[in-house]
Amino acid sequence: MANIDLAERSVILVTLDSCRYDVAASAHTPNLANLGPLLRAESPGTYTLPAHAALFNGFLPRPVSGPLTVDGNKADSIWRSSAARPSTRHAAVPFDGSTLMAHYSRKGYRVVGAGGVTFFDSSNPANGLPKLFPEFHYFGHPFRPSATPRARVADRGEDLPLAHTRMLADLCLEAERFFLFVNCSSTHIPYTTPFSPLTKRNKELIQRLYQLHDSQQNASDDDLLTAEDIEVLLDMQRRALEWADTRLGDLFSRLDARRPLVVVCADHGEEFGEGGRFGHAHPHPTVATVPLWCGVLGGE
Ligand SMILES: [Zn+2]
Repeated sequence: MANIDLAERSVILVTLDSCRYDVAASAHTPNLANLGPLLRAESPGTYTLPAHAALFNGFLPRPVSGPLTVDGNKADSIWRSSAARPSTRHAAVPFDGSTLMAHYSRKGYRVVGAGGVTFFDSSNPANGLPKLFPEFHYFGHPFRPSATPRARVADRGEDLPLAHTRMLADLCLEAERFFLFVNCSSTHIPYTTPFSPLTKRNKELIQRLYQLHDSQQNASDDDLLTAEDIEVLLDMQRRALEWADTRLGDLFSRLDARRPLVVVCADHGEEFGEGGRFGHAHPHPTVATVPLWCGVLGGE
């Protein structure tokens, strides 16, 4: 039991949407720390769509420190698609399907996806990512192009996928082996969770941040945030991550008897004015640098 091949294990894959590496390094996340050390990694995508397209083809954010150690196994990467160009680098789980989901489905796993940011809204026919799953659950609100920053700033609870760990774990446990993907939206703007509720001050700051995200380089001086304002916003993302950690602790405790392989990373980070812009979908080290944890749950 101690040494099940990583390729035969159930899988939990979680993306902490928009979570910055420095926020993760300063947060209290005991359940993530139990998986293994926090690794600094570089994402192949600057926003949700390309980052997940790469991820679902096995291209995780790459740790800058080199090979990974998972459950005593050293590997250059966890997954490696046969679509990748030839390499002598060692992958723990080589696969030849078009996506991880196709690979695990073909092996008879129960494949379940859950999401919270609008790229995962399965009711929108333009969204390709949820279609890659035989079963997908979207918990966020539908995207409304006309939504004003004021309308987008709201407290969140049941519309966060990790509020539904019991339901997701029960689906996984119906099968002998499972592949569970969760896109965690708590760390995405507006960063609101039960640990980071709206206040008069942060509400106004998040509205200004939405305006800066939308306007990109066209922000006028009046819209700019002070260093102190930015600290308030980064602290909201930190608290949103700490809320996700407690919910992941609940999910892990429900599934650890199956001893799954677990990978948790951000899809991309977020810039808070370090290079003059705010948000993501543009190349900047704060956007490309993301946190990554991996490990195996359970054990003797
Ligand atoms: Zn994203």
